[in-house]
Amino acid sequence: MKSIRLREGKERSLLRRHPWVFEGSIARGSADAGELVRVEAHDGRFLAWGAYSSSSAIRVRAWSFDEARRIDAAFFAERLHQAAALRARLGIASDGQRLVHGEADGLPGLIVDRYGDVLSAQFLSAGAERWRETIADALLQATGLHRLYERSDASVRALEGLPERSGWLRGGDLAGGSTALAITEHGWQLGLDVALGHKTGYYLDQRDNRHRFAQLVRQLGCRTVLNCYSYTGGFSVAALAGGAQQVTSVDSSGPALAQARDNLRRNGFDDTAHAFIDADVNAHLRQCLAEGRSFDAIVLDPPKFAPTAAHAERAARAYKDINRLALKLLAPGGLLLTFSCSGGVNADLFHKIVAGAGIDAGVNAAILQRLEGAPDHPTTLEFPEGEYLKGLALLRV
Ligand code: SAH
Repeated sequence: MKSIRLREGKERSLLRRHPWVFEGSIARGSADAGELVRVEAHDGRFLAWGAYSSSSAIRVRAWSFDEARRIDAAFFAERLHQAAALRARLGIASDGQRLVHGEADGLPGLIVDRYGDVLSAQFLSAGAERWRETIADALLQATGLHRLYERSDASVRALEGLPERSGWLRGGDLAGGSTALAITEHGWQLGLDVALGHKTGYYLDQRDNRHRFAQLVRQLGCRTVLNCYSYTGGFSVAALAGGAQQVTSVDSSGPALAQARDNLRRNGFDDTAHAFIDADVNAHLRQCLAEGRSFDAIVLDPPKFAPTAAHAERAARAYKDINRLALKLLAPGGLLLTFSCSGGVNADLFHKIVAGAGIDAGVNAAILQRLEGAPDHPTTLEFPEGEYLKGLALLRV
């Protein structure tokens, strides 16, 4: 067993059960990509079992802080059962669920979403990659399912020295190998494609915010809705379910908009009565302003502008810009749901950015509710970095 010896004083974060060891904390020791290592303090004291990653700034990701714990197939089976058992207790109103949320489920670098009877996984660290076959078998065992698609085509794999990869990992010969699926979320039918969709196929983290949006649209009597960064129209379906009369979905992905149109149809809404606009959101917002349009409700759910804190300043300008435009486009009394999924922008900073946008727009707004990701994307006490999705429901006053 190879050991990684930390520099004096660098044991503190592992003692607090934070699962990452950065390159600069290591005094000596190395291993192969993904190999199991014993991490020890400067005096040789055991700190954690972890997976070594030779090319990442995060050199070790901890599997366990228990010295007696063996890291083997039984370990992964147990962690996956625990993750599944937690979801079973959350009362999730969908058969689309995040089953494994990386570090928060004690499985750094592993993301697994479940869409009905199909699993879709991302192996994002050298450690998760090393145990890929074991994890695949354990996933089928823990869920009783047979089909597992791999979406390890995320760019973060490059930081771990891993190539991008996607395709069926288990059960590709079943159900004709079809990757087009559907889930039922809060009673809505939503089609998706595990091979072609973003991330593992769909944005499950917004599930409860979409439902909340439907409630607010109904409660406030919103008739016209602009869904920006709509992807496959989850918030658009919610708006229509809430009684909206005219919904515009804007996204720069043609295939996502085609799926959005299909999702409206699946739920009995007339897709020809609504607009699907393939455009840059910023440009579209400016165009709407120039045309003197306004909306009763607007959703802003942009992609990650700031992956890390280092990108925060540029991202802040981009967030402020779209929020300023959206606030100006809100009809008096209108509703804005605005989000950031950037790890580098925390809830506090996001609040400040949106407040600045309000000042610049000359618009006052009341915070109806602070929003976050659905509970099957848990944040643990020890790992605040896991918290990424934050949002505000604002009412123009
Ligand atoms: N709200 C969606 C998820 C949005 S994900 C849901 O509930 O499912 C972010 C979306 O922004 C993606 O679909 C991506 O195609 C789109 N996007 C990224 N940059 C864009 C831009 N500049 N203009 C318009 N859409 C953009």
